[in-house]
Amino acid sequence: AYSRVLEIHKQHLSPVLTAYFPEPLLLHQGHMEWLFDHEGNRYLDFFSGIVTVSVGHCHPKVNAAAQRQLGRLWHTSSVFFHPLIHEYAEKLSALLPEPLKVIFLVNSGSEANDLAVLMARAHSNSTDIISFRGAYHGCSPYALGLTNVGIYKMDLPHGMGCQPTMCPDVFRGPWGGSHCRDSPVQTIRKCSCAPDCCQAKDQYIEQFKDTLSTSVAKSIAGFFAEPIQGVNGFVQYPKGFLKDAFELVRERGGVCIADEVQTGFGRLGSHFWGFQTHDVLPDIVTMAKGIGNGFPMAAVVTTPEIAKSLAKRLLHFNTFGGNPVACAIGSAVLEVIKEENLQENSQEVGTYMLLKLAKLRDEFEIVGDVRGKGLMIGIEMVKDKTFRIAPSMCITKPEADFAVEVFRSALIQHMKRRAK
Ligand code: PMP
Repeated sequence: AYSRVLEIHKQHLSPVLTAYFPEPLLLHQGHMEWLFDHEGNRYLDFFSGIVTVSVGHCHPKVNAAAQRQLGRLWHTSSVFFHPLIHEYAEKLSALLPEPLKVIFLVNSGSEANDLAVLMARAHSNSTDIISFRGAYHGCSPYALGLTNVGIYKMDLPHGMGCQPTMCPDVFRGPWGGSHCRDSPVQTIRKCSCAPDCCQAKDQYIEQFKDTLSTSVAKSIAGFFAEPIQGVNGFVQYPKGFLKDAFELVRERGGVCIADEVQTGFGRLGSHFWGFQTHDVLPDIVTMAKGIGNGFPMAAVVTTPEIAKSLAKRLLHFNTFGGNPVACAIGSAVLEVIKEENLQENSQEVGTYMLLKLAKLRDEFEIVGDVRGKGLMIGIEMVKDKTFRIAPSMCITKPEADFAVEVFRSALIQHMKRRAK
């Protein structure tokens, strides 16, 4: 049966859908932090989809909410009201500080970021958008223009794809990079770091200013930042950098957008949102992935003022956004995070695991920087790639111990192979 699946995949699914492994797992079932394959083997899921299954696979409370709603009403479109969208909007907005109180529900992170581009442009009367080198903001036309990380960089001839025809005014600064670290005390062993990227905040800001003054932008519409860069390898900025960058953008009339698609909903432990860890207040927050625990759902939250600017210029419509089933699931996810203290668990288990993983640096030469916050942990495999850990927020310390041991034995095997 498995070989048949591989065959169908090859014949009928687009070749851009590349699997991570030559023989990808065929997954049949999930329960909380566990996944089960077609032969009944179980796996401790330490990436939760792609940082998506926030409260655990098929969490009973989330499942029950979805099933209840599936039996009642699936779809109304945004033209009609249904009680769950209002209930959800109230719950979600309560989790955001003033004046971030107006919510638009959509279906994916890319859609959320596309909408944020429209909002920033409608509000600022400008068109230029800035994003970081190493950023991942999605795959739809605008979002792809903001994305600039490794394999996802677009490399198409003129006239094809996003750049430069569809969003000619999206550009990036020469700052950032895939191996930047925010901890000056960390000694980085044989890292593959580019010489220009392990810099202190002041140098970052100087580069940022340079970009702003030399860029084509006369005035800025918006500036996108992930509080921790996700796809790029859980990369953190120097402390205080985002705060200063937000100020510079605002001085030039731009709005600041936090992409919380990976960092939101308590994953970082110390705070519910990633932007709070930088002590900044964005004008627009985009969110997806963990919001629906794996169900297609996303949101853009902004200020009444920005929401009005968009409404003045555009009738924005989204067929599936805020559908009753998604809202039922979203509400249940928020309740579970609170009732089961999952944000606190992320903080506790994440910090515990980070320390354990950091110790592997003493044992293995190839383990470089170990960084992160809560359950978003990156391990630099020296002169190679980054290993990312982001399990569901329900994992326990014994499971973290188990995962670190598995990782350790993989490293031992790797070292043995290399020595041969
Ligand atoms: N922003 C970030 C930070 C992401 O990690 C992703 C997905 N990896 C997206 C946006 C795009 O989300 P989606 O795949 O739901 O369109």
